[in-house]
Amino acid sequence: MKILITAGPTREPIDPVRFLSNRSSGRMGYALARAFARLDHQVLLISGPTSLEIPDRVDFIPVESAQQMFDAVAHSITGYDVAIFCAAVADYRPATVASQKIKKHEEQLTITLIKNPDILGSARSIMGFSGYLVGFAAETEHLEAHAREKLLRKSCDMIIANDVSQDGIGFDSTHNQVWLIEAEENTALPLDTKEHLAHHLAAIIEQRAGQKTKMNSR
Ligand code: C5P
Repeated sequence: MKILITAGPTREPIDPVRFLSNRSSGRMGYALARAFARLDHQVLLISGPTSLEIPDRVDFIPVESAQQMFDAVAHSITGYDVAIFCAAVADYRPATVASQKIKKHEEQLTITLIKNPDILGSARSIMGFSGYLVGFAAETEHLEAHAREKLLRKSCDMIIANDVSQDGIGFDSTHNQVWLIEAEENTALPLDTKEHLAHHLAAIIEQRAGQKTKMNSR
């Protein structure tokens, strides 16, 4: 199968030397890319800046901003069987990017932010993706209800949800404990390293995507 994965944070430029970003390490997405490559699938990893090594036998497109990630996904997604959106895309970006470094003249500086495109939310509608679609959800409360709402709103086949209010899991951590939210059921997976969890998730997604392809070809 052909698997597209987004990973890492995005950087939204303020001026030539500054940007807005978040704490995403990219570990979960890179671990998934490695797991699918090990299962002999063809993997494309589209990643924001991270300190991780590019996995072996994986095609790689580096991006910085959410708009660049959107463009790379839109350009590549046709023909993929599975798309997994693991990236922590910045919801907003500065409305204007200063062409020169901003000087500290004023006591207060206001930066106006505008909304970034929703890449996962555009996969079905704007990009016409009909394969198996997986999104991630980081929630601090009402995990299952919020993730299910996201599943429907973004027309996903699966949402992988984690509770980021718990210490030691999720963002910028080596471990994760997730819920799988699907049309028919919610399933809690045990606390695990991201590396081991990625193999578990890859096996489940491989099986579900295979079922979907079979049903579509009937
Ligand atoms: O709605 P929310 O941003 O919490 O959804 C998270 C999911 O959507 C993740 O899978 C993330 O990669 C994806 N996403 C995206 N583009 C955005 C925001 C989120 O692809 N601009």
